[in-house]
Amino acid sequence: ASPNDVRWDKAVCRFCGTGCGVLVGVKDGRVVATQGDPDAPVNRGLNCIKGYFLSKIMYGEDRLTRPLLRKKNGVYAKDGEFTPVSWDEALDVMAAKWKETLKAKGPSSVGMFGSGQWTIWEGYAAVKLMKAGFRTNNIDPNARHCMASAVAGFMRTFGIDEPMGCYDDLEHADAFVLWGANMAEMHPILWARLTDRRLTGNGVKVAVLSTLENRSFEMADLPIVFKPQTDLAILNYIANTIIRTGAVNEAFVSKNINFKRGVTDIGYGLRPDHPKEKAAKNAATPDAASPMSFEEYKQFVADYTAEKVSALSGVPVAQLEALAQLYADPKRKVVSYWTMGFNQHSRGTWVNNLVYNLHLLTGKISEPGNGPFSLTGQPSACGTAREVGTFSHRLPADLMVANPAHRKHAEEIWRLPEGTIPDKPGFHAVQQNRMLKDGKLNCYWVQCTNNMQAAANLNEETFPGYRNPANFIVVSDPYPTVTALSADLILPTAMWAEKEGAYGNAERRTQFWRQQVKAPGEARSDLWQLIEFSKRFKVEEVWPADLVDKRPELKGKTLFDVLFRNGQVDRFPLSDIAAGFDNDESAANGFYVQKGLFEEYAGFGRGHGHDLAAFDMYHKARGLRWPVIDQKETQWRFREGFDPYVKPGEGVKFYGNADGKANIWALPYEPAAEEPDKDYDLWLVTGRVLEHWHSGSMTRRVPELHRAFPNGLVFMHPNDAQKRGLRRGQEVKVASRRGFVSTRVETAGRNKPPEGVVFMPWFDESQLVNKLTLDATCPISKETDYKKCAVKVERA
Ligand code: SF4
Repeated sequence: ASPNDVRWDKAVCRFCGTGCGVLVGVKDGRVVATQGDPDAPVNRGLNCIKGYFLSKIMYGEDRLTRPLLRKKNGVYAKDGEFTPVSWDEALDVMAAKWKETLKAKGPSSVGMFGSGQWTIWEGYAAVKLMKAGFRTNNIDPNARHCMASAVAGFMRTFGIDEPMGCYDDLEHADAFVLWGANMAEMHPILWARLTDRRLTGNGVKVAVLSTLENRSFEMADLPIVFKPQTDLAILNYIANTIIRTGAVNEAFVSKNINFKRGVTDIGYGLRPDHPKEKAAKNAATPDAASPMSFEEYKQFVADYTAEKVSALSGVPVAQLEALAQLYADPKRKVVSYWTMGFNQHSRGTWVNNLVYNLHLLTGKISEPGNGPFSLTGQPSACGTAREVGTFSHRLPADLMVANPAHRKHAEEIWRLPEGTIPDKPGFHAVQQNRMLKDGKLNCYWVQCTNNMQAAANLNEETFPGYRNPANFIVVSDPYPTVTALSADLILPTAMWAEKEGAYGNAERRTQFWRQQVKAPGEARSDLWQLIEFSKRFKVEEVWPADLVDKRPELKGKTLFDVLFRNGQVDRFPLSDIAAGFDNDESAANGFYVQKGLFEEYAGFGRGHGHDLAAFDMYHKARGLRWPVIDQKETQWRFREGFDPYVKPGEGVKFYGNADGKANIWALPYEPAAEEPDKDYDLWLVTGRVLEHWHSGSMTRRVPELHRAFPNGLVFMHPNDAQKRGLRRGQEVKVASRRGFVSTRVETAGRNKPPEGVVFMPWFDESQLVNKLTLDATCPISKETDYKKCAVKVERA
């Protein structure tokens, strides 16, 4: 296309939590190109290889364009063949199944699994439909697999979610410590900014910690490979060193910190009859989260000496000392970064708490160049998964379903009778799979995620649940993923620039884009699907009589009327913002719902530390970081001069907690849920690669990205290969106690595990790595540990 024929508009990259701005080029109703947006503050015109090929993700040859229902002899059958049907038939069959199940077994028998790839209004509409409409808290995002531990860590330490710092820290810090985060591949644009700072700043240092050598080690001044799970001990050693060497910021600690005992939950989140779970429950007694003195905390960490931690972690004492010195040096500004290495951890919440301890002891927090920063994997892990309350225990803006005042507040905003929202947290992601298998969760809707590839222990838990004859599974997806093909009904979904969108990235930046093109065939956005589904239920069909009686005027109305018209969401007519855009969905609904949903949702956070700007501002700005007050965004939270919630004279105030203080938690090292033994003698670590987004369902359909990294591999140390008589490129079987996959050996290349560890990426659907992994979770966050299980590798 000639450059003059192409219309360009701003948007946000569809992939990782970095949130790069892109310019989308459209010609003749088709996205023909994308380029890095030079005006985007996050990426300043750059994209990574995935971002450069964004324009191609919508045009895979096997794009789904019609609903597909399993049918036999013309009617739905669990063992039927996928057959094209109309939207009306698809949604009617689905609604009949839900009604039947709700009547027979009540609200706990229906559920939904979504994602941090939902747009903000899609996630919000899903929460409202499930928690208020169907009155079940059985909705969870795949963010449970990704950064639930970060959420629990923030809430435990600060009483409020999400990082206090921002990407500007990259230009201010003197030291960067990467805890299990391979930023060079997973957050390449932030890595480019970090690299720039390392190469141009004076004496800037980079420490990279991981259980295997990865591409980020190329820039490391301090490259540290530690034994899996021992990060808990290393963090306590650093705290001990800070205290021992007199590096504590006494004034900061005495004003801003409470010390607490923290072993409040035990076990590994396995099924109660799993031997490991039984043993853990028998062995430990949890503390109450009770206060302790600074002196008691000092004694607690004193046990983590250099010698002891070196022996446990395999890290030489000199490296441990050099690492501790980065934090302890009062002249050095330090940022800690982490992602899945910390979060996908059977003690994921603890390990988040422990890194906060270091920044709190030294006062290196909430100011330019100093702070702990949890990176996110998905484009709207923060904006949607966390902020709109898609977790099974949450409501919008950090509110909790178990808190009566929070439920009441939500019911008031939603103009619903008191008692509408159930008071118990619903099934979280891992629990959902178990309940499907056990036949207790029977109607299940998956949007925007590929759980049959992403969930741990696929063989034993997830697949049997989807194919359980008692269950009706619906999957909304643009492509026939392994999850979609395991369902009973597939709904074809509009993606990215085929719909109006909003995402929130890892630095609290909310960004919008406009619909640019029409979705192919009959594909429709997740939001449209949710709203159309809600029209098929009368209130009295899904609510008990005593609840309906509280508001008789709702009788005869549909969930659509009650949820999407009864609140504020119908205040904004189509003509408000849809003019000039080809938006079939808005026209079909008769009004433009996105703005209404966003403004209603924003009402939860305004005045409570989560202030979002007015809807229209986001179409003008390249994103804004909340809290946004008087049209001004916030770069660093909790510090006077930056955060509008901290008044003059208050200095630092951790206002998420009632007393304005943050918590330092005393938490010990504990072993992993499964460790190598004589039968399964290697640690398996799973992860991602630069070229592919998560399960590869989009990027493997881009020819350039597919060619760049076509298939999964098992990366292993040359000595481990030699011991087993294996050569590079040879076909092997990798087996755990739960299943096996066939793959090829890689003994060179970008990932170099130490002896005793193997690494496998999970993007390749022909090698379902999660057949191997164990579904152990952090007992607090319920996030799965994908980084540690025991396997063996044999010649195929
Ligand atoms: Fe930026 Fe991430 Fe997209 Fe790459 S994948 S362009 S780093 S948002």
